[in-house]
Amino acid sequence: MKHYINHENHIFSFSKFNKPVIEVEDGDEIIFETLDCFSNQIKNNNDKLESIDWNKVNPATGPVFVKDAKPGDVLEVVINDIEIENRGVIATGKGIGVLGSSLNEMFFKVVNIEGEKVIYDENLNFPIKPMIGVIGVAPENGEINCGTPGNHGGNMDTKLITKGAKVYLPVFVDGGLLALGDLHALMGDGEVCGTGVEVAGKVTIKVRVRKDFKLNTPMVVNEKVISMIYSDINLEKAIEKSILEMINLIQLKKEISNEQLIMLFSIIGNVEISQIVDPLFTARFSLPIDFLKSFGITID
Ligand code: CA
Ligand code: ZN
Repeated sequence: MKHYINHENHIFSFSKFNKPVIEVEDGDEIIFETLDCFSNQIKNNNDKLESIDWNKVNPATGPVFVKDAKPGDVLEVVINDIEIENRGVIATGKGIGVLGSSLNEMFFKVVNIEGEKVIYDENLNFPIKPMIGVIGVAPENGEINCGTPGNHGGNMDTKLITKGAKVYLPVFVDGGLLALGDLHALMGDGEVCGTGVEVAGKVTIKVRVRKDFKLNTPMVVNEKVISMIYSDINLEKAIEKSILEMINLIQLKKEISNEQLIMLFSIIGNVEISQIVDPLFTARFSLPIDFLKSFGITID
């Protein structure tokens, strides 16, 4: 079945106490209409960032209750399409981004997106690479605001989460309670100013419940790589855990020692940084998808 969720249905934190907007079956398709990370409050360059309501940042559309998803399962989210609107916002300023301590005021820039390009100014334009910044499920306990990443997903700001990719999220509560938002027309690893090109839009996904493997943290797979994502207050810890979780995944399917895997990881894997500007750092460890296939491991 196909479902459509209007952007009026959004949350600002992931929690098992959020009332689901809809219930869907395993295998259903859902279109999420999403606001940008400022809840579409910035319309043009004359708007002041100081004047926006900071309680309304990082909305995620949803949540969706997926029937049959139980704690310990994995939710597979196949991203079939990301459509973005033709206007985006880039922002930085005091306390925002990697160099926020060196800035004294807020800066933002509204850019047009024409066709497949972000028009930065008359001399600079860049091909769009639409991605999802916030995608997650309810954590086991408490609530996690949508600006923070974690084992439940959330604000992972990972540029691999794009059309054609599959995102795998551990399920902590009945139904999972999937929500997403915070689309970016374009973003680099690290997200150093604190934002990408923030846009509203629409995301079409297909959701499946997987009971054939386990995850402790989100994972993304595309036609080239499998990437384990981990967020922590400490970047080195996030990197270490992303590698450990990859070892765990492979050892679920294949008998092979830690030392063998670590040596293999060292010669063909890549440590990558998704973002370093949210309340927790997000690192990922990526392996060529063919490497897993050579072990006889397939995720689909
Ligand atoms: Ca974000
Ligand atoms: Zn964003």
